[in-house]
This record gives sequence, structure tokens and C-alpha cells, in this order.
Amino acid sequence: GRPGLSPRHVTARVAPLGSRLVLALVEDRTRERQVEAVRRDFVANVSHELKTPVGAIRLLAEAVADAADDPEAVHRFSGRMLTESDRLSRLVQQIIELSRLQANEPIEGPAPVSVDDVVKTAVDTSAIDADSRHISVVSGGTEGLEVYGSTEQVTAAVANLVANAIAYSGDGSTVLVTTKALPETVEISVVDQGIGIPESEVERIFERFYRVDPARHRSTGGTGLGLSIVKHVAATHGGDIRVWSVEGQGSTFTLTLPRRKQENEQ
Ligand code: ADP
Repeated sequence: GRPGLSPRHVTARVAPLGSRLVLALVEDRTRERQVEAVRRDFVANVSHELKTPVGAIRLLAEAVADAADDPEAVHRFSGRMLTESDRLSRLVQQIIELSRLQANEPIEGPAPVSVDDVVKTAVDTSAIDADSRHISVVSGGTEGLEVYGSTEQVTAAVANLVANAIAYSGDGSTVLVTTKALPETVEISVVDQGIGIPESEVERIFERFYRVDPARHRSTGGTGLGLSIVKHVAATHGGDIRVWSVEGQGSTFTLTLPRRKQENEQ
């Protein structure tokens, strides 16, 4: 296979040779190359994203040193240093989380995950930043219901959705978290009355480091990794994540996960 050929294209060219082995090898290499390209891309993005807060902290440290005899300025600069270093540590934590998920390793010690517990923990964690938003949780018959996998990962995914709902909606608005039991699956929805997402951007928001409006994102302290993490958690659990959004009116993110079946535990 030549570089740049899609697997389907390669198949079409190689199949007439009638050799299954050659075909399998070619496809394997293509996949290897894709994985490698994704990895390289990620490393490049990560370096770029880390440089911003590190650079800011450095400048602020210099400013503090220069302002040594101006206590008010020292106070102001160190406050901003604190904000930037919090952002940096959130970024590093999410990068680690995402690179683990991207490795597509099976979940370590998968176990039953209580849907209602996950939602409660996720809401409690995110509510710290809720200020004057109202968060309501409505459970739709999911009492005692379980999915199967990693409580930590599913909690992180839901917490990311709730944190976004809070970050991208205004004071006094309501964030609704609903759970719904379906025959085979569970749906966890996070509904906000926030700024919404332009139709042209909806496809892209699950990409790593993608933000609809980077200028606005600075003020919300986002990293652009949250939804990427949610997408991977959905995938490792055999579920999916969907979004409905109307710009200026709000968004609904729905995480669907398969319900736990007995045979999962074997
Ligand atoms: P971030 O850390 O920037 O929030 P995410 O990956 O979680 O990164 O989200 C990517 C982008 O999608 C955000 O920067 C924002 O532009 C948009 N977005 C995510 N959730 C919402 C929401 N509930 N309402 C409006 N826009 C959202």
C-alpha cells in the first residue's frame, strides 16, 4: 500500500491478486500509520496547548518580581498565576485521561456502575461552580439500574457534560440532568438553556482541543478536551453521545450506555 491510500482503496487494488495474507498485511500497515498519525498530531497539539499557560505563568512570575514594592500589584499578579496554574493542572489531568482512553485498552477491572450514583457524584462535583444556576436531576425509572464498566470514567464523562452546561449558560438558568431506562440502554441527558452551538460547529465539538469560540473559552477556562473524553468513554462502554442544540436557546447532550446484562460479568 502506498501512503495516503484509504483501506478501501487498498483493498480494491490488492484483492485481484487473490492473496488474503497480503491484503491483511496491507490493511494492518494502513491502520498502524493512521494510529501513528493520530499520535503525532496529539503530541503536537499538546505541546502547543501547554505552552500557553506555561508562558503566561512565566510572564506573571516576572511581573511579580518586578512589582516587589507594590503589594497591590503583587496580589493581583499572583491571583492570576493561581488561575493559570489551576488551568494548567486541569489541562494536564485531562491530557493524561484522554491519552489513556485513546490507547483503547480494555477497562481495568470492569464492574457494575450505578447510574443514579454516577449522576449524583457528577452533579455534586460540578455544582461547586454552579453559582446561581439551578441544577435539577430527574430520574426516569433508573433506580437501582446499572451499566457495566468504569464508575470513574462514566462519572468523569457526566461531570464534563454538566460542567459544560454550567459554563455555557447564563446566571439564573436551569441545568436539567435526566436519566431514562430503555429496554437495552440507559440515557443520561444534560439539558441547558445556554448559548447553544451553531449548526456548522456541532460536528466538530467532539474533536480534541476544538472550541467553538477560543476567545470565549479563555474566560470559561475550558481545555477543549472535555467532549473528546466523553466520546471515548461512550465508545469504551459500547455506547454513544449525541447532541441537539439551537444557537441562543440551549443544548441537550445525551449519553447512551448499554444496560448491564448478567453475561457481562463473566
Ligand atoms: P471546553 O473545555 O472548551 O468546554 P469541550 O470539549 O468540553 O471543551 O467542548 C468543546 C466546545 O464545545 C466548547 O469549547 C464549546 O464551544 C462547545 N460546547 C460544549 N458544551 C457546550 C454547551 N453545553 N453549550 C454550548 N457550547 C458547548
